[in-house]
Amino acid sequence: MNALKILKVRSQQSCNGCELCVFEAQRQLQKVGLEGSLVRIFKNKSEENKRLEFYVELDPHIHSLDVEKICNICPKQVFEISEEEADGFTI
Ligand code: SF4
Repeated sequence: MNALKILKVRSQQSCNGCELCVFEAQRQLQKVGLEGSLVRIFKNKSEENKRLEFYVELDPHIHSLDVEKICNICPKQVFEISEEEADGFTI
């Protein structure tokens, strides 16, 4: 049985908002621009320390793409990949 590669956000606070992951996902879908992207980056200005914070959101359909390429393109190691059998067990 083939294992399913699951892309997860490991370190949300490490994201610098560069959007390389977004462009890689769009490249794989052969789309230009950000519309319909399966990865989205949200920006938030923190009131406490007055700096920009970024939040990464993954669409469940992300697993139809080559998630290793998306994981590896991130310069801040925000993502990790786990492998699960089709029955949902992590291996
Ligand atoms: S998750 Fe990584 S590649 Fe995506 S915007 Fe953040 S730092 Fe850039």
